[in-house]
Amino acid sequence: MNIEASIESFEAEPLPRRQTVAVDVGSVTVGGAAPVVVQSMTNTDTADADATVAQVAALARAGSEIVRITVDRNESAAAVPHIRDRLARLGIDVPLVGDFHYIGHKLLADHPACAEALAKYRINPGNVGFKDKKDRQFVEIIETAIRFDKPVRIGVNWGSLDQELLTRLMDENSNAARPVSARTVMREAIIQSALHSAALAEETGLKRDRIILSAKVSNVQDLIAVYRDLSRRTPHALHLGLTEAGMGSKGIVASSAALGILLQEGIGDTIRVSLTPEPGGDRTREVQVAQEILQTMGFRQFMPVVAACPGCGRTTSTVFQELAETIEGDLRRNMPVWRERYPGVEALKVAVMGCIVNGPGESKHADIGISLPGTGEIPSAPVYIDGRKAATLRGTNIAADFQVMVQDYIERRFAVASTPSAAAE
Ligand code: SF4
Repeated sequence: MNIEASIESFEAEPLPRRQTVAVDVGSVTVGGAAPVVVQSMTNTDTADADATVAQVAALARAGSEIVRITVDRNESAAAVPHIRDRLARLGIDVPLVGDFHYIGHKLLADHPACAEALAKYRINPGNVGFKDKKDRQFVEIIETAIRFDKPVRIGVNWGSLDQELLTRLMDENSNAARPVSARTVMREAIIQSALHSAALAEETGLKRDRIILSAKVSNVQDLIAVYRDLSRRTPHALHLGLTEAGMGSKGIVASSAALGILLQEGIGDTIRVSLTPEPGGDRTREVQVAQEILQTMGFRQFMPVVAACPGCGRTTSTVFQELAETIEGDLRRNMPVWRERYPGVEALKVAVMGCIVNGPGESKHADIGISLPGTGEIPSAPVYIDGRKAATLRGTNIAADFQVMVQDYIERRFAVASTPSAAAE
């Protein structure tokens, strides 16, 4: 292969984002030219305002730009305006989305303060009512959205897919000259449910820039197929997410694979990673994973990157693993404050490497990096700043000394960059 052909083969870039209609959700824009938005959902009982305020605050501080809460009964609907007020008193203005099933039309009608306090309503067309009530109750929610000037997400989920629609499409398929697979029919039913509901919302008077669509399934290949097709058939902004992704690494890998492929193809305006937390686990993990998907793929920058080698037989101590973990923990803990104090700190790159083989090279590519001594190496740790060797740390305090150097670097580089005179340089 000649050099021109090789260079061309390196130019694998994400496809341009599919053009969708921008939707304002409170202070956040989803779709159009806006960056892909990270969102999450609480798992508290919304009627328990204390627990819900605490969890929404934690999710927002972790970086969730929209937070969805369940509104399943009168007590939950009544709590929503109080939750909104209490968050405001904490200085948290993250848009709250109400998740409605079965009786959303009634809850919104009976609790106008709830309808007002929410920034968006999520409607599942498969759970809005049955037979003749289905469209009527859906329209009632849309009319409330119009009255309160709120956007809606029409969120189809294959676990609660409109059974009448699915049955009709299955019957049509079985009578067709060349029937397709039941899986293909299921995918088509999911898409048609979203498109039919969006059309009905628009006929009712809701503007296109007030509608977001999602079509979630739990299988990665189905999700990719459904969203590829949906994005070709609608200009509406799209919310991506793998439903019931699962626990731990399984949920993270499945979500990353599915969302990564779609985002690379320019599909998706907002994402949620639906992880099942361990009992008592940290709900903000789903926000962290969503941010890491977007950051790893180069779409957005949320957190400084800590590059750490995996370690091998040349590292017989755990010093470098502990240091990498400490630095990463420090950065994550401080980011809510540092984002304000040190604009641009998200772009920081730190390297923590285990030995001399790749340590100096990787450290030089970082803004600040350390190469710890591997087994049998001289017990010293060169530190590189902006590509140059800046110090050599020795002794038992290497980790603490490096932490101080990272803090100093951030202070020097990003605090200065935040002043008007430095910004003009
Ligand atoms: S940098 Fe050194 S310790 Fe780390 S993986 Fe490479 S050879 Fe092993």
